[in-house]
Amino acid sequence: MAIGKVFLIGAGPGDPGLFTLKGKACLEAADVVVYDRLVAPELLAYARHDATTVYVGKEAGYHTLPQQEINQLLVNEALAGRTVARLKGGDPFVFGRGAEEAEELVAHHIPFEVVPGVTSAIGALAYAGIPVTHRDLSSGFHVVTGHECLQSTGVNWGLFTAENQTLVILMGISHLEEIAQRLMAAGRNPATPTAVVRLGSTPQQQVLLGELGSIAPIVREANLRPPATVVVGNVVRLAETLRWFDPD
Ligand code: SAH
Repeated sequence: MAIGKVFLIGAGPGDPGLFTLKGKACLEAADVVVYDRLVAPELLAYARHDATTVYVGKEAGYHTLPQQEINQLLVNEALAGRTVARLKGGDPFVFGRGAEEAEELVAHHIPFEVVPGVTSAIGALAYAGIPVTHRDLSSGFHVVTGHECLQSTGVNWGLFTAENQTLVILMGISHLEEIAQRLMAAGRNPATPTAVVRLGSTPQQQVLLGELGSIAPIVREANLRPPATVVVGNVVRLAETLRWFDPD
């Protein structure tokens, strides 16, 4: 029997309208759809009626299926000759362990394709009226994980202190206090405009605005829960002016 192909597909940050045409074509062709928690449920409507859909969770702190079992599932389905659509939030290669899944497929000689998606690092901010760059305010951006901030192997926050650089932190909401402290200790100005965007591009989108020195208590008081993206930099000032998406 021929080995099935696996498509690693980015589902975008939340708004189903941001899904790509190629992603849609892959979903329509799939025998099996394996999807994460942050994937817009509307997208599953593109799957065939006879396709098997498997929810594999993925939430901060715990996975419904451990990564090893997700990898195994993809391998087993492909080896059984089925076409697999692996739907992941945002872009499949921006955190979220898409690269590890691809490595596992290579190890088993399983053909695969990657279908990029709109990453929340850019898309969720855009829906909050925050451009990641601006000619006068930011000449570039960094996207880092806030998840590893307490590990010695983790992020070197001292690399992100320049005023003309935007810093986007994914998975950082639970450690926001420490992250802000470390950035300021490394030299980032406490007055740097800072925003937190939760569930960006969805009807539940929430945006909190503050400064690097004040954002952690603001987030704590609002009792904001993941998934949320933190953005530090002068571009955050534009959020008031460029705000265009009003989910209410
Ligand atoms: N591959 C994904 C990121 C996976 S890591 C991507 O490219 O977007 C999961 C983190 O992404 C969350 O902890 C949160 O920081 C961020 N995230 C995902 N969806 C989001 C959304 N709709 N709004 C804001 N942040 C989001």
